[in-house]
Order: sequence, then C-alpha cells, then structure tokens
Amino acid sequence: MLHLSLMEETIKLKQELERAKTELGILYEISNAMRTTLKLDEILYIILTGVTAHIGLGFNRAILFLINDKNSLIEGKMAIGPHSGEEANRIWSQIEGEKMDLDDLISAYKFSANTDNGSESGFNKQIRSLKVALGDKNENLLSLVAQEGMPLHLTKETIVNYRNTPLLQMLKSEELVLMPLKAKDKINGIIAADNFITREPISKDDLHVLAMLANQAGLAIENSQLYEKTVMQANLDSLTELWNHGYFQYLLLSELEKTRAIKLPLSLIMLDIDYFKVYNDHLGHQAGDKILRELAALLKNQSRKMDFVCRYGGEEFAMVLPQADKKEAFLIAERLRMDIEKHDFTNEDIFPTKKLTVSIGVSSFPEDGLLPAELISASDKNLYQAKHKGRNNTCC
Ligand code: GH3
Ligand code: MG
Ligand code: MG
Repeated sequence: MLHLSLMEETIKLKQELERAKTELGILYEISNAMRTTLKLDEILYIILTGVTAHIGLGFNRAILFLINDKNSLIEGKMAIGPHSGEEANRIWSQIEGEKMDLDDLISAYKFSANTDNGSESGFNKQIRSLKVALGDKNENLLSLVAQEGMPLHLTKETIVNYRNTPLLQMLKSEELVLMPLKAKDKINGIIAADNFITREPISKDDLHVLAMLANQAGLAIENSQLYEKTVMQANLDSLTELWNHGYFQYLLLSELEKTRAIKLPLSLIMLDIDYFKVYNDHLGHQAGDKILRELAALLKNQSRKMDFVCRYGGEEFAMVLPQADKKEAFLIAERLRMDIEKHDFTNEDIFPTKKLTVSIGVSSFPEDGLLPAELISASDKNLYQAKHKGRNNTCC
C-alpha cells in the first residue's frame, strides 16, 4: 500500500517536472523570437502565437489590447483564433500536418505581412474595431484589469456577471482569462485568452505560465513602441510635422514600385507658395514659419487618407497620390488650390494679391516618366508653367 502511493507520488512528480520543462522551453522560444524584431505588429503576432500555438500555451483564442494613454483608450490590436470548430480543425491539422513550429508560424506571418494579400480574418477585424475608454463603466472588465494591473480569471460561475460587456458580447466565452502586460510600473496592454472551441478548463498552471509570458511581452511591446516612435520622428519635418525630404524620396520610390506591381497609376503634386518672400520680408521668418505650419495642416486635412503629404523644402510641398491618374490628380490639386485661396491665413493681406495662394505642378506615372527623378522633374516644369501663367494656377 505504502509502496503504491510512493510510486504514484513519483509518477506525479515526474509529470509535473516534464510540464515545467516544456513550459520553460516555450517561454524561452517566445522570448528568443521577440528579440528577432522591433516591429510592433510582429511582436504582437509572436506573443499571440505563443499563447495559442499547440506548441505554445495552447489556448484556443487570444486577443491583444494596447493601452493608448494619449487618448485614454484600450484598443483591440490583434486577435488569433478560429471562428468555429470547423475552422479550428482545418487550421490545427494544417499546422500539425506541416509540422510547423513557432519559428515557422512567425516566418509565415512575416511573409504574408510583406506580400499584403488582404486576407485578414473577420475575427481580427472585429477586434481591431473594439475601442473602449479607460474608465468606461460598460467595459468594466478591461478597465478593471488596466487600472488594477491584476489578472482576472472569469470562471463559468463569475463570467455571467459580465455578459453585457462589449468584449463578452463579441467573444461569447464560457471561461476567460485577462492578463495585464506591464512595462516597468505601467500597464501597457492586456491579453485575453480562452478555450472557446475545446472548452478545456483554464488551470492554475495555465495562468502561471501566461503571467510569466505577459511580463516579457509588456517589455517587448514598450521597446518596439519606443523604436517606432524614434523612426517616425526621424522621418518627419520638425516645423510642419509632414514627411521630410528624405522620406519623400523613399516614399515616392516605394510607392512607384507598388504601383508598377498592381498596374495602377500614380501622381505627384508639387506645390509652391506664391510671393512668400514678400511675407517673410514684411513680417519676419517666425511669422513665415507659422504660415508654413498652417498650410501644412490644411494640406493634411484636405488630402485623401491614402496620400502622402511631404515638405519638399523651404516653401515647397510635395504630395504622392497613389492610384490617382492625371485627371483625378488635377481635380485634387485644383480643389486644394481653391481651398487654400479660400482659407483665412494669418495676416495674409501682406501678400501682393491680399491672399495666400499657391502654384501647383502635377505629373503622373506612367505617361510623364517611370522613375522618381523623371516625375519630380515633370512636376517641377509644370509648376514653373503655373508660375509663368500668373501664379495661383495648376498645370499638368
Ligand atoms: P514665387 O511666387 O515665385 O514662388 O515667389 P516666392 O517669393 O515665394 O519665391 P522665392 O523663391 O523668391 O522665395 C521663397 C522664400 O521662401 C524665400 C524664403 O524667405 C522663404 N522660405 C523658405 N523656407 C522658409 C522657412 O523654412 N521659413 C520661412 N519663414 N521662410 C522660408
Ligand atoms: Mg520656392
Ligand atoms: Mg514661392
């Protein structure tokens, strides 16, 4: 009798040891993977893959929220998981069939992100539209975790109290865990995970490993956000906060490459303020700078979401208009020119015409050129034409 229980005890201990070893292995693999990139979306994907993959923690679904301190929002950023049991079987057997490990899954993600085939899952889209205010009473679940910084395990019994929160209306989980992500002393995100398909209970062990992963994840996210902010700042013009000249050159080249691949047109607008020297000479450079900022804001507000507004240099601006042919670009340019003419700029009666106006040159791919330099030169020529015609004009 005594012997038997000793044997049972040993077997149990051995199983626990095996499990701890596997868990450590998973954490090691995930933290290694997180060190291979600084791109935020790749970091998020690695974290969620670690939480859901069979070879990872094995949750059926996982969602990542980030805290946006600037707007006091909790924003859904990425979700991984099947919609139905059928989809689950298909995905899981593919992963098993192809013997995909964590590394393979991450490489597959990087590949699909680079080729951008628009195959975003419905679940992911739904989650990315979920934004709740930090103190939102209706979403007391996410707010609670974000504010207290403590994990929340909603069991089959306690989850009924939260049925009406936007999150659970969307997820319909029977059991759910919410784990805060921390960077130093700040909560910067939340992972939500459940076993929607298999309905396997969430164990203490699962929570423990998820908490360890969350510690690493919070730091990796903070690093990546800092990196992305630095890169962004390096590409912005500090006066106007538009893309700077260097980034404009990069944008034009890479947008032209994309355009060539999808066989669509692209246009380039060059825009120059009329008689700007007069304004500067009368009111000084600081007043001139203020005008440049006002005009930059107008250009950004009045352009299409997909357009890139850049400061080419001095009082010249450039706009890359993906997918716009010459006709469309001309209409966009004319609309901008008239918006600028109508807008009340500070002390604009100093200008010879009593109004701030601009001259615009437009060029288009492919008819005006195939290379960035050819398009810039064509837009420049047309801009010169617009000046020559008396300014406050668009030429293409
Ligand atoms: P045009 O209608 O022919 O374009 O006349 P213009 O006076 O605008 O052209 P010009 O090239 O003679 O002068 C451009 C002026 O823009 C010169 C300079 O004082 C001003 N400028 C260029 N960059 C800046 C800047 O960053 N800040 C300020 N305040 N002024 C600038
Ligand atoms: Mg100029
Ligand atoms: Mg000028």
